[in-house]
Amino acid sequence: MQRRSLIQRAGIAGVLATGIAPAVHAQAAVRWRLASSFPKPLDTIYGGAEVFAKKISDMSAGKFQISVHAGGELMPPFGVVDGVQQGSVEMGHTVPYYYFGKNDAFAIGAAIPFGMNSRQMSAWMFEGNGRKLMNEFYAKYNIVSFPGGNTGTQMGGWFRKEIKTVADLKGLKFRIGGFAGKVVERLGVVPQNLPGGELYAALEKGTIDAVEWVGPYDDQKLGFNKVAPFYYYPGWWEGGPEVDFFVNDKAFAALPAEYKAMVEVAASHAHMDMQAKYDARNPTALKQLVGAKTKVLPFPKAVLDASFKASMELYAELAVSNPEWKKIYSDYRAFQKDQILWFRFAESRFDEYMQSVTL
Ligand code: CA
Repeated sequence: MQRRSLIQRAGIAGVLATGIAPAVHAQAAVRWRLASSFPKPLDTIYGGAEVFAKKISDMSAGKFQISVHAGGELMPPFGVVDGVQQGSVEMGHTVPYYYFGKNDAFAIGAAIPFGMNSRQMSAWMFEGNGRKLMNEFYAKYNIVSFPGGNTGTQMGGWFRKEIKTVADLKGLKFRIGGFAGKVVERLGVVPQNLPGGELYAALEKGTIDAVEWVGPYDDQKLGFNKVAPFYYYPGWWEGGPEVDFFVNDKAFAALPAEYKAMVEVAASHAHMDMQAKYDARNPTALKQLVGAKTKVLPFPKAVLDASFKASMELYAELAVSNPEWKKIYSDYRAFQKDQILWFRFAESRFDEYMQSVTL
């Protein structure tokens, strides 16, 4: 009697485990649209969404399909948060700091001047409180965020004239992405916000004096070296900018559990893949740019120091005026302090040594 009921129970459990329940979910056909903020020719950053969508399709045997749309195709490149919030698309691929005009706290989810590098940012997001705090904040915009790539520390951009002192920044018309404009305007810079497609012509004509974009691989494609000879580093406003997938919260909640897991796994894969591509491709582009007579220069320390001071002043003001900034930023900064403490021992000494020897 006891044995028979065990067999019966095992029989039912077996059916559930191998048949009915998984089959119902695996057959669910889901079609989503993804709005990217990036143009197709930037294969590394735009391509992050394609890497994600392909992985989802492969994992679901083609049943969960996400179509990827370049910036401007469905909505303006910087309209992605509105589009996802309103549910006109299920998801987007973008950089949170573009939306600092809605709330400066968006910037912390991507990069803030003198913030964390790529490794440290991922540590905060995956293992610290980063993802949790940012998702609490994004919930007001009906958004659930997932990691969607990182460029690593960016270059400081292309300048028509040399920057020797802090005074050389006065009146400089500089295209600089997102939130960092709030810092450089404190140094007399006139930040410009032009779409990527207009930058080359504006720099060539001298309508703007300088432009920062990403790094050697992307910058070379846009041809800035032909119209501005000085290539500065580092982009201290983007030590490790995180690109994100923003998913509409209702669309995400409606997914079967295994599709939710696929979104999580494919996002982490795309995140790692983008950083690997930038690191692998930047050296060749940098060598070619130097070969084409680009002058690669570090920002003078006085420029970095003045920029650091201006950044800290801005953050102190935001901590008073913006409670969401204060909550997220205090956790971010405490985490960064520990990261710097750790990185200065093994990682930076090893890097310094390896850069000093001939391989
Ligand atoms: Ca940039």
